[in-house]
Amino acid sequence: MNLKDKVKELAQKYSNEVLSDRRHLHAHPELSFQEHNTAKFVANKLKAIGITPTENIAGTGLTALIEGKKPESKIVALRADMDALPIMELNDVPYRSTNKGIMHACGHDVHTSSLLGTARILNDLREHFEGTFKLIFQPGEEVSPGGASLMIKENVLKANLHKVAPRSIYAQHVAPFIEVGKVGFKPGPVLASCDDIYITVKGAGGHAGTPHEVIDTVLIASQIVVSLQQVVSRNIPPHIPAVLSFGKIVGEGSTNIIPAEVKIEGTFRTFDEEWRKKAHENIVRLAKATAQGMGGDCEIEIEVGYPYLNNAIDFTERSMLYAQEFLGQNNVLVLPNVMMGSEDFAFYSHHIDACFYTLGVKNEAKNITAGLHTPHFDIDEDAVEIGVGLMTWMGLCELKQL
Ligand SMILES: [Zn+2]
Ligand SMILES: [Zn+2]
Repeated sequence: MNLKDKVKELAQKYSNEVLSDRRHLHAHPELSFQEHNTAKFVANKLKAIGITPTENIAGTGLTALIEGKKPESKIVALRADMDALPIMELNDVPYRSTNKGIMHACGHDVHTSSLLGTARILNDLREHFEGTFKLIFQPGEEVSPGGASLMIKENVLKANLHKVAPRSIYAQHVAPFIEVGKVGFKPGPVLASCDDIYITVKGAGGHAGTPHEVIDTVLIASQIVVSLQQVVSRNIPPHIPAVLSFGKIVGEGSTNIIPAEVKIEGTFRTFDEEWRKKAHENIVRLAKATAQGMGGDCEIEIEVGYPYLNNAIDFTERSMLYAQEFLGQNNVLVLPNVMMGSEDFAFYSHHIDACFYTLGVKNEAKNITAGLHTPHFDIDEDAVEIGVGLMTWMGLCELKQL
């Protein structure tokens, strides 16, 4: 039997265990950086497979090595995120969340259980590859500063036991916009950087009927929101996608009261680290100048979030060929556009070659269509066996070619 068929056979053999792991994790979700039981579950499963994990990295993170022949020759890393979201699940399913108000609405239960499935197969196939796989189960993808950045600080991408560092890293993410059976890739930039902008406009409040006696914070805030659109339309080179959106304005005045303070909150997203820094400077300068030009002032805080996610072009193009071999050409899609969402896997992509791909989980016939981060999100579980087999196969192909 060739290796590809062997991987498919093992993915099928372990599919019930992986699904039961997925359902367990789905029913017991934990918030970012509080994944204590999840981490314990993962550690116990790895030990049961015969793999010894390194635990408590960046809090609840774990890594584990699966060594083939010549284990010190090369390493490919495989990453799963483990955290859930503060959402009340509205699905009526046997594996519904039992932790009230917490839900795996971003599919990290699928990523974690799938990586455990991949670990089972790779462990069975140790005789069939040269090199080592490094499994990374990370906490806190959903909240700043992102578990990925903390895991990197704890040296998960550095050479350890074997004096060799991982050269490339894979991660999958469930995609409710792709039909089950298909997967999506995009070489190059794929997800945006993400920074939160907090502006507090200060003026002199007072009676709305005597505007000459106040410094109108509402008018200044309105002007700032309009002015700052110049950062995207005039400052950033037009070939770099960027978005600046404000979703919250709070001024606690009334029909006849101008408040002394107005708060504005928004998000800035783009695909270029140099322009990202310049945009931050422009936002501060323009907001300040606008407020001061109108007699008021403002304080600006920019919470710097994840960088943009860059899929290494050669590595991702190679991986698409591996995926075509495994799933057939028609089931491997090229995602046409960058997406303005963000993901902390981006941190890895600025250190080593990274490939982040999407696993189709949609099934309209079964009414499985809800988006990520919604209380009805679920997956067609047929996707799990595909995801487990595909990551195993791509990892094996990549390790061979390094
Ligand atoms: Zn998410
Ligand atoms: Zn996610």
